[in-house]
Amino acid sequence: DGLGELESRLVQCRACPRLVAWREQVAREKRAAYAEQEYWGRPVPGWGAGDPRILVVGLAPAAHGANRTGRIFTGDRSGDWLFASLHRVGLAAIATSTHEGDGQALRGTRLVSAVRCAPPENKPTPAERDTCAPWLDEELELVLPGVEVVVALGAFGWAAALTALARVGAEVPRPRPRFGHGLEVLLPVGGRMLTLLGCYHPSPHNTATGRLTRPMLDEVFGRARSLARM
Ligand code: SF4
Repeated sequence: DGLGELESRLVQCRACPRLVAWREQVAREKRAAYAEQEYWGRPVPGWGAGDPRILVVGLAPAAHGANRTGRIFTGDRSGDWLFASLHRVGLAAIATSTHEGDGQALRGTRLVSAVRCAPPENKPTPAERDTCAPWLDEELELVLPGVEVVVALGAFGWAAALTALARVGAEVPRPRPRFGHGLEVLLPVGGRMLTLLGCYHPSPHNTATGRLTRPMLDEVFGRARSLARM
């Protein structure tokens, strides 16, 4: 299918020299706790439903998370929060995501990251962000017909989602709406309305400081589920 074809091209991408070097160095050197594991060390594709009603846009794979496991948001603390919340609101089969064959499955929901390779300190450069953007555009275009809600994690995910939505034909207001937690923006696209929904990124920084709590995260995903009429 289209997503499979996209994925087979994506995993071969080497367009960003700094990120290619970093993702491969991390995969070689590993973290002591994972010394026995083979790291993925490549671009990380979207994961979840192939015909999603909810698309979740994150920042980038974590060096020892998705860059290790090959499944986005899998194997790091942000992902632990995300999958647990998706499970609590009925969008994920189980509360954890660890590896292929773990029994996890998302209901009507797909997870993607704006940048597909792990960046040093979780910070892609503007050039890397722009170089990777066409992968998100392409994935969004493939799933767009069924998508009712795009959940953007953090200001980076929000900006990337707006850019991709504009590129696939959504009418994005000028000036662009600014990111806010719980903020909803209705966007006309292809003769219907789609909702962009903002959510603080469940990063260790946001969750450890209490800026983002479990109830806040559940409220956003519960809202996404209801907007998607699921
Ligand atoms: Fe390719 Fe994106 Fe990885 Fe850059 S970040 S190498 S564009 S997949």
